[in-house]
Amino acid sequence: MSPELRFQPSANIAQLKESATIAVSTKAKALRAEGRQIIDLGAGEPDFDTPEFIRRAAQRAIDAGATRYTLTEGILPLREAIAAEANRHWTGADPVKAAEVVVSTGSKQSLFNACFSLFGPGDEVLVPVPSWTSYFEMVELARATVVPVLGDPARGFKVTAASLAQVATPRTRGLMLNSPVNPTGSVYDAAELRAILDLASQRGWWVLSDEIYQRIAYGGAPAPGALDVAASRHNLIVINGVAKAYAMTGWRIGWTISPAPVAKAMNALQSHTTSNAAAVSQHAALAALTQVAEADAAIAAMVAQFRARRDAALAILGEEPRLKVLAPDGAFYLYMRAPLGLAGGEAGTAFASYLLENHNVAAVPGSAFLTPDWIRTSYAAEQSQVEDAMRRIVAAFRELS
Ligand code: GLU
Repeated sequence: MSPELRFQPSANIAQLKESATIAVSTKAKALRAEGRQIIDLGAGEPDFDTPEFIRRAAQRAIDAGATRYTLTEGILPLREAIAAEANRHWTGADPVKAAEVVVSTGSKQSLFNACFSLFGPGDEVLVPVPSWTSYFEMVELARATVVPVLGDPARGFKVTAASLAQVATPRTRGLMLNSPVNPTGSVYDAAELRAILDLASQRGWWVLSDEIYQRIAYGGAPAPGALDVAASRHNLIVINGVAKAYAMTGWRIGWTISPAPVAKAMNALQSHTTSNAAAVSQHAALAALTQVAEADAAIAAMVAQFRARRDAALAILGEEPRLKVLAPDGAFYLYMRAPLGLAGGEAGTAFASYLLENHNVAAVPGSAFLTPDWIRTSYAAEQSQVEDAMRRIVAAFRELS
């Protein structure tokens, strides 16, 4: 008889924590399966169906034979479309080329490819706080060190070039930048972004600019991105994808735009992990990026609904003046402070548990984003559900205050 193998996680993942955003929705789904009427404002996922013109393009692509491997970095027409879109923002002398684009299985893989290819032991990576939970784990999976940089709550937790410069050391190798920000919905304006990019360029840091929420912004235009303002892109990796703006989370298509040698390295890494992103999904993304009039109309309609939900949610939360909530300019999250009466340090976790147990609302504790006294709710759910959930949050807040 063979001896029983006892699982000991390898040193690679010994410190790894499961994604809290995913865990909250998994729990909400399990409770729903048990018959509880949960309003799931956990994981950030548009509640809309992928627009019909994209679904049709995917169906046609399957019938036309898009069922085999593609180039690891993705089909050329998609990379060309991504480069063309990037060149609407980048006006430097070195237009973005298809060879600088790597298409991956969701922008999560794009971010991971970039972290794993650029950072390693001894490197420090600046991560503004609060930030999306997976940045911390991805930097650590690359065995680099996370240097959290707490933003100013009075400025929607945005960091500044000065606050980054203060914590940088000679070992600083990179910066995780994200605007509109998950979880706060804050948007960096062009001047703020330019100041940060100038500093990074002077100091020789890689900037990973995650722009997945760029088109979900309420200022009447897409939020400014790194390619709109950077003086140079020699140290820039722009990450984007179709999941959020085009309601295509399940298709898993993200990409990086980076200097060609970085693209080559990430491509080599991807060639040993997943190879190409799903062929049919690449064709769906191609339709999303090239059927511009239809895409713009679909995005405008979705953003209008997100805006209406945001406004309705803020109006309800505003009825409780003690409840501190950040008014978001982009993405589809509301970041709010747990009642002060709850134990400091993990108040967000206690508040999220209370909401789930007593009011059937699933929210993500702020500890996932390194601000443990806060919680995040998504408003990418039907407006009536969002409004119902906000009323329950106000009630819970009053019960605990
Ligand atoms: N990025 C979304 C969120 O923050 C989806 C879940 C995830 O990938 O973490 O909720």
